[in-house]
Amino acid sequence: MDNCLSTAIIMRINEYGESDLLVSFFTRDRGRLKGVAKGARRSLKRFVNCLDTFSLVTLEYRLKRSGSLHFIESGRLVDSFASIRTDYRTMSIASYLIELTEALFPMAMADQAMFDLLKTSLDLLDKGENRDFLPVIFETAAMRLGGFGINTEKCCICGRSYTGKGPAVFLSERGGIACLKCRQITASSPKLSPDTVKWMCQVQAGNAEDLNNISVADEILVEIKPLLKLHREYQLCRRLKTADCLE
Ligand SMILES: [Zn+2]
Repeated sequence: MDNCLSTAIIMRINEYGESDLLVSFFTRDRGRLKGVAKGARRSLKRFVNCLDTFSLVTLEYRLKRSGSLHFIESGRLVDSFASIRTDYRTMSIASYLIELTEALFPMAMADQAMFDLLKTSLDLLDKGENRDFLPVIFETAAMRLGGFGINTEKCCICGRSYTGKGPAVFLSERGGIACLKCRQITASSPKLSPDTVKWMCQVQAGNAEDLNNISVADEILVEIKPLLKLHREYQLCRRLKTADCLE
């Protein structure tokens, strides 16, 4: 049995047995984990204010050799991101960020860049910044980190390099862009202006700290939202429960 100490974001909390809590959390060093907080519903001394969804915490837990459920010994709150819970719309966005992270990253797959992206995004939401386009930036970056980056460099059919001059179309079955010689613009292969392609390229290449400085022009937002929906549903083969809040 090893005792571990990890910085983590609380993803989900459920009642477990008579007095315990089942906690899903995303650690920076070990990825997504699940653990039982023994007696947490009776005595909260070992977990003062830290077992709340979206909170950034430091958790001490015991890794079990077999099975995937760990024992959470204690926790310390780093940031509760309290403002997120005061507004329904903000809470819906935060729930969406969590669900997409769960869909992209299997249990115990560590990804520090993804942790930083989620943490920074929750922090921005908490401060009320970029609320309208934060989900779009998050999703573009998260899909890339999860292995579903959109190829913006060349036409995915003829291979011609995209020069950034004219419009392109997005093909969900290829996860990339195509030139207008190869594909027509339709609802399932929507048009992308050069600015949108450039924006996607920038966000996919960036890291979490850059989130503060990225904005999205309305014209780009109009094109990127349907694209991301097509891309996500094609790659993940399902709808996310929380995605409705974005549409
Ligand atoms: Zn082409």
